[in-house]
Amino acid sequence: MIEDFFNLTNSYAMLPDIFYQKISPEPVKNPKLIKFNKSLSKELNIDPKKINEENGSLFFSGNVLPKSSKPLAMAYAGHQFGNFVPQLGDGRAVLLGELIAKNGDRYDVQLKGSGKTIFSRNGDGRSPLGPVIREYLLSESLHYLGIKSTRSLAIVATGEDVFRETKLPGGILTRIASSHVRIGTFEFFLFKNDIKSLKILADYTIKRHFRKISKKTPYKSLLKEVIKSQADLIAKWMSVGFIHGVMNTDNTAICGETIDFGPCAFMDYYNPRQVYSFIDEGGRYSYINQGKIMLWNLSKFAETLLPLLSSNLEEAKKEAIDCLELFPNYFEEKWLSSMRKKMGFLKKFKEDVNIISEFLEILKSEKMDFTQSFRKLSELIKNRENKYFQKNIKNISKFNSWSSKWSQRLSKENLKLSEISFQMNKINPVYIPRNHLVEKAIENAVFKNNFVVMNKLLEVIQDPFTEKSSMTKYSLSPKKKEIVPYTFCGT
Ligand code: AMP
Ligand code: MG
Repeated sequence: MIEDFFNLTNSYAMLPDIFYQKISPEPVKNPKLIKFNKSLSKELNIDPKKINEENGSLFFSGNVLPKSSKPLAMAYAGHQFGNFVPQLGDGRAVLLGELIAKNGDRYDVQLKGSGKTIFSRNGDGRSPLGPVIREYLLSESLHYLGIKSTRSLAIVATGEDVFRETKLPGGILTRIASSHVRIGTFEFFLFKNDIKSLKILADYTIKRHFRKISKKTPYKSLLKEVIKSQADLIAKWMSVGFIHGVMNTDNTAICGETIDFGPCAFMDYYNPRQVYSFIDEGGRYSYINQGKIMLWNLSKFAETLLPLLSSNLEEAKKEAIDCLELFPNYFEEKWLSSMRKKMGFLKKFKEDVNIISEFLEILKSEKMDFTQSFRKLSELIKNRENKYFQKNIKNISKFNSWSSKWSQRLSKENLKLSEISFQMNKINPVYIPRNHLVEKAIENAVFKNNFVVMNKLLEVIQDPFTEKSSMTKYSLSPKKKEIVPYTFCGT
C-alpha cells in the first residue's frame, strides 16, 4: 500500500486549533515527478527504492496522502518590508506531518504550491514551476556549502497552468524543514494578545529546537539562542555572497535555517549594496544590510516574548534589550571568523580586520567577482604573479601592496603555504548557483521541458569546493550579455 510508505508523526497538529487550519492539498490534474532527492530521502528514513515516477507523482503532488498524515496550513503574521500584516499564514502550502530522521531529529514535510487555504487571501494557492526549481537549487546549494537551510525533497510538475503576468506551468515543491515556526508565528499570537497560545508556542519551540536551554529562564534563553543562531546564519550568508532578498519576519525561521527562496541570489561582482529583488527598490534587503535587518527582525521577536519574560513590563524590556545587545558582537565575531578562514588566517591578530576590509575595498572598486576572487587567493599564495588578479585589476600597485601585507600576515601562521592553501579551498567555494545559470536551468525546464541543464547544475553545486577542469564554465562570472540583474518573487 503506497499510503503506508511514510510514517509521519504530527506534533504540530496536536497544538490548539487556533494554530492552523486543518486542510488537505487540492489534487492536481496531471502530476509528474521531475526531481526526487535520493540522498535526502535516505537521511529521512525513506527508502528511495520504493519511490518511482508513478507513486512519487501521486505523493509529492498531494493527490495521495500517507495514512499517517494530518495535513494543515499554519497560521502566522509578519512584518513585510517593515509593515505589520496580522494574518499571513500558509496561503499555498500544507504541512503533511513530520518525519523522524536517521539522526533522531524531527523534520516537517511540507508541500508548497498545494492549493488554496483560508490564508490564501487573493492568491491562487499555487506556484509556477520556475520558483520551485529556484528554491530546490538554492536551498540544496546552501546545504552543500555548509549553511543551515530548509531542504528540497521533490519537485512535481502539476500539469496545470498558473496565471501570473503570463500563463506558466505549475509546480509543487516538497520542502523539508527542522520546523516552519517563524518569528511571524509568534507575532500572530502577540497581535491577538493571546498570551496563553504564545506560551504554548514558546514551549513547543523550546522542546523541539532548544532542549538543552536553562529551565530556570527558558524564555530569555530561547531569545538568546535564536539571536545566536541568526547571527551565525547571516554571517555565513555574507561569507558566500548570498542575498536572501526578502527578509521579512515571516521568512525568518526560529530553528535558524534559511527559509523562503523567492527573490534570493548569489552575488557575482562584489557590491555591498547589491540587490536582486525587483520589488526591493529602497535596498532594504541589500547584501550589506542583512545583519542590521536581522537585528530588526529579532527585536520584533523579542517584543513577542515580553509577556513571558516577566510580569513586570519594565523588567521584561530590560531582559529583552540585554539579549538584543548581544547580537552586534555575535554577528561581528561570526563574520570575522568566516572571513579570517577565507583569507587563510587560522590564528587571530588585530590587523586581520584591516586586511579583510582592504581586500573587499579592492574587490568593490575593481568590480571583481566575489566567489572567484576568494578562491583564487589560494593560488596567489603559491604565485604572486597570479594571472587572474593581473588580468582583472587595473590598480595593480595598490593590489600588490595589499598582497604583501597579506603574505606577511600569513607567515605568522607558521604553517606550510600548501597547508594554508588546502584549508582555504575547503571554505572558498568554486561553484555557486549563479543567477544566470539558475535562470538558464529554469528556462530550459519550464519552456523546453528539458531538465538536463537543471540536473547538471545540481550536480555541480553538490560538490562546491572541488575544482574540476570539465566544469570551468560553472565557476565563471557572467559575461556582460549574460548578466541577470533582477529576480522576481514569482508568487
Ligand atoms: P512569501 O512571499 O512566499 O513569503 O509569501 C508571503 C505570504 O503570501 C504568505 O502568507 C504566503 O502563503 C502568501 N502567498 C504567496 N503566494 C501565494 C499564492 N500564490 N497563493 C496564496 N497565498 C500566497
Ligand atoms: Mg514566506
